[in-house]
Order: sequence, then structure tokens, then C-alpha cells
Amino acid sequence: MTQTQEPSVSTGDTPFVPIEKIVSLCKRRGFVYPNSEIYGGVSGIYDFGPLGVELRNNIRRFWWWSMVQTNDTVVGIEGAIITHPRVWEASGHVENFVDRLVDCKNCKRRFRSDHLPEENVRLNKCPVCGGELTEPRKFNLMMETYIGVLEGERMKTYLRGEASQNIYLDYDNVLKSSRMAIPFGICQIGKAFRNEVTPGNFLFRQREFEQWDLQFFVHPSEMQQWFDYWKERRFEWYQSIINHKDRLRFRPHGADELAHYAKQAFDIEYQTVLGWQEWEGIHWRQDWDLSRHSEYSGQDLSYTDPETKERYLPWIVETSGGVDRTFLNLLIDAYEEEPPSGKDKEGRTVLHLNPLLAPVKVAVLPLQKNKEELVTTARELHAKLRRLMVSQYDDVANIGRRYRRQDEIGTPFCVTIDFTTLEDQTVTIRERDSMSQIRRHMNEVPAYLLERVRWDYSV
Ligand code: ATP
Repeated sequence: MTQTQEPSVSTGDTPFVPIEKIVSLCKRRGFVYPNSEIYGGVSGIYDFGPLGVELRNNIRRFWWWSMVQTNDTVVGIEGAIITHPRVWEASGHVENFVDRLVDCKNCKRRFRSDHLPEENVRLNKCPVCGGELTEPRKFNLMMETYIGVLEGERMKTYLRGEASQNIYLDYDNVLKSSRMAIPFGICQIGKAFRNEVTPGNFLFRQREFEQWDLQFFVHPSEMQQWFDYWKERRFEWYQSIINHKDRLRFRPHGADELAHYAKQAFDIEYQTVLGWQEWEGIHWRQDWDLSRHSEYSGQDLSYTDPETKERYLPWIVETSGGVDRTFLNLLIDAYEEEPPSGKDKEGRTVLHLNPLLAPVKVAVLPLQKNKEELVTTARELHAKLRRLMVSQYDDVANIGRRYRRQDEIGTPFCVTIDFTTLEDQTVTIRERDSMSQIRRHMNEVPAYLLERVRWDYSV
């Protein structure tokens, strides 16, 4: 995302939330902090706070569950961040993983030339002030590091620029150790590092971020059918976790964007105040990666079909998305400022997060803090619930303020212990979005909540 993209108007009935509101909520409520803030921060690098780490773990877990654990033909790996430097020569990153940057000679703004509108490229004009642009300069995005301390043993290598390379490196080991046969897939979630020349828009473009990848290995004759299959499955997956379904679309890559080996490619895009932006890429990788690694390593990575004995290099369908963009898009998608209404006289900020992804599932609230029996009962219920799900106990401030605090972090349920509880053991369960309340016996609460916050979607 560059400074050139104009904020857009929402196509639905809810206006797009400005990124600043999300940044502020994230800092205030402990989702995301700027990294090394006391030293002035580092551009494009963030830390995740107590609620952020819960949300992130839920996002990762849900992806892993739907991609790996519920698919018999997919397994997972976790590769190292540092690999042999030849990997990045074979992958083409050392030579070609570059951004082209132009500066405006007048206003000094900096743009990625591939993100400029065509008209500005043609006229060599700054999209902000109309000033003249410099010639594009190339910058390699790979982050260098060194292994070893002794002179002669010291080897320059890189923090991985994309997580997926480990999958190609481990493909043969997985085949031999897991009794998989083609067609099958390998998944991974892992950190990637890029010296982005224009980091920005909060978590959208960072220098350290996390990717999730599926590399699905197929016989060349079945490439199209598997490409279509995973393209649809991934779109459905993103649809299942957002509220604004109309803000998700496919964008086919144009001929000028396609890699030479790719017959087609699609981005799954989500629309925010930043415009339509890539969330995940669905790529036709053919046999490019395995053939390059065969060539550079000298190891034959071809596959022999156990029945037909045909020997061939498998082709690959890749789906590659970002954990951080998912985190950001979900917060944007869920955020709403509701005006005062009959149900809430003061109005509220609420995160309509899917309950299975929400960082806190339930808050247990005694109506009053100074009534010992209410507090004891609430603490007992909280102790039971926290073994099953993330539960918070809160007895500070009046009940309305406590509800609003939970709404703002997306907690789907609040359980209130009041004076009736002491008589008949029933409690109030308040639902976040509708603010409706029902009464249930305390013993029924764990099962009632579990039913509503557990995974219920499979690809
Ligand atoms: P872009 O065109 O936005 O630079 P890309 O096409 O280089 O992205 P890929 O290399 O295909 O992205 O990476 C796969 C996914 O990783 C992206 O769809 C995105 O969700 C995520 N991603 C890529 N770069 C970043 C980044 N700098 N910060 C956060 N997430 C990123």
C-alpha cells in the first residue's frame, strides 16, 4: 500500500473504519504495541500484547485445524527461519526479490513504482503533488545475517524472505516419512522477513511478519482441477470468518504480473479504507520450485507413482496468506461504533469478532463487588470456565461499564451473578452483538458456552 491510494467509500451500509482507530484500540487494550517503543520504535515491526497473542493464536489454530487436521491429504511442518544460502539463489530471491523505488523530486515522497497508477508512470509524475519522479532504483528485500564466528567458517545467509521454501526443502523427507502419496499437501505457518522499502499502514506491510502456506503437490494432468479446488476452498474460508462478505473478492493477475511458469493466479482481496488489498495469493507454481531445487542441490526430487511407476516432477498449487493481514482485516471487519440506543443509552464500541476467534470467550461478573457471596460464587464459576476457555473475572466499576469493556475487546458472552443467583443458582448470560440476556442454571453454563465458541467449520 503506498501513499497513492485514495481512501474509498464503503459499498455496504457501514462506513470503513479509519486505521488510526484500530491502532488506538490495539494499543489501549493490549492487542498490539510498537516494537522497542521506549527507544523510539522500529518502522514496520510490532509486538503483540496479552489480547493480541490470544487472537493471533486462535487465528493460527483455526487455519491449522481447517487446513491440516481436517484434511487427510495434508500434513504440517515447521521449518527453521535460517536455511542454507543456496536456497535463496535457487528460489531466485537473491537475484530478483527487489522492489523498484521512485522519489518525487519536489515533495520528496517515496513510492514503489509497481504501486503507482499507470498514468503517473507514463507521465513520470508524482501522484500527490505532480512533481517529477526519479528513475526507479532497485532494492533487494532479503535480510542478511551471518552464521558462525570464526573467520573462514563465517557464512552469509538470509532470514527467510518467504516461509514456503522450507516446504520444498522438506518435501522429499515428508514423502518418505509420512506415507503420503500424490496428490497431497504440506502446510506451514511461520515468520518471514523483508526489508520492505515502504513499510506502513500498521500491520499491513511489515518487515517481520507471519505467513501461512499450503503447497499442494499434484500430477501435471490434474493441476487445473486442484487449482480450482483450493481457490474456492480458500475463498470460503475467509468468507467464514468475516461479517462483511461483500468486501471479499478475487482479483485475477494480469498477463504482465504472471510468472513465466504460471498459467493463472488470483489474489483474494479485502476492501478497507485502504482500498482493495491482497489478503492471500493463489498461485500456479507448476514444477518451478522443485526443478530449481533439484538443479541447485543436485538431488533428484522427482516422484515415482507407486502404481503406474511413472516418474515425474510434481506440479504445485500454492495458497499463501498472512497471519498479520488476517489479524488486521478481522479487527477492521469487526469494529463498530454503535450510537446510543434503547439497549445501550451511552453507545458503545464493539468488536463483532467470530466467537471462535475472539481472544476472551467469556467474562464472569458479580453484580456487586462488596457482597461476599456474589464474589465467591462468581470466582468459583470463573475457576471452572477458565479450564475450558479464556475467561476473565471482572468486578471493577458498574455492570454497564464492565459490559462495554468486554464489547470493545470482542468478548462474545458475559455471565452475571446477581441476587437471584443466590436463591436459585441461575445466572444471566448476555450476548455481545444482540445484547440480549437469558437466564440459565449455573451448571449449564459451561456446556452452553462451549457449544458456541468451538470450531464448527471445515474445508
Ligand atoms: P505485496 O504485493 O502486498 O507486497 P506479495 O505478493 O509480495 O505482497 P506474497 O509474497 O505472495 O505477497 O506473500 C503472501 C502473503 O503474505 C500476502 O498475501 C500477505 O498476506 C502476506 N504479506 C506479504 N508481505 C507482507 C508484509 N510486508 N507484511 C505483512 N504481510 C505480508
